[in-house]
This record gives sequence, structure tokens and C-alpha cells, in this order.
Amino acid sequence: MALMITDECINCDVCEPECPNEAIYPGEEIYEIDPNKCTECVGHYDTPQCVEVCPVDCIPKDPEHVETEDVLMIKYKLLTGKE
Ligand code: SF4
Ligand code: SF4
Repeated sequence: MALMITDECINCDVCEPECPNEAIYPGEEIYEIDPNKCTECVGHYDTPQCVEVCPVDCIPKDPEHVETEDVLMIKYKLLTGKE
């Protein structure tokens, strides 16, 4: 499941550089997550790095992008070119 950033985001900028997939980018008003790139950090880390650093806890799972752990791992491999 990809994660999403809610409108509680205060644009503090700390999550963007932490994302190993470069899935986080500045949107029109708040930061946003590209669901095609977010693997919930599967393949890179044990926990979602953006959630770890977000000071206002505004990065929940995106119910519009439900994915299993296996699918996230496939996505990670496609994104990184790793087998
Ligand atoms: S969970 Fe990981 S891959 Fe997804 S946006 Fe956050 S840091 Fe990036
Ligand atoms: S860490 Fe949280 S509050 Fe800061 S920019 Fe990212 S989503 Fe927004």
C-alpha cells in the first residue's frame, strides 16, 4: 500500500530527502507522494522512513492504493532494477 500525505502537513521538508524511492515531492500546497514510486520503504528499510521523521504524524496508508507486501517487493525490484 502506498502512503499518502494529509492536509495536516506543515511543509517542514524533512521527509522528502529521506525517501529512498524519490516518491515525495512538493505539491501545490503540501508535499505529496507518488503512489507509483512509494513501496512503503519495502526493500530498503523495515519501516516507512517518511513516517519515522514526520513531526505531525500526517502520513497514513492510502486506501486508494492497497498493495500486499509481495506486490510492494515487486514494485521495489521494478523501480531499482534489482532482482
Ligand atoms: S514510505 Fe518510504 S517509499 Fe513511501 S513515500 Fe515514505 S519514504 Fe518514500
Ligand atoms: S515530514 Fe510531514 S509535515 Fe513535514 S513535509 Fe513531510 S509530510 Fe509534511
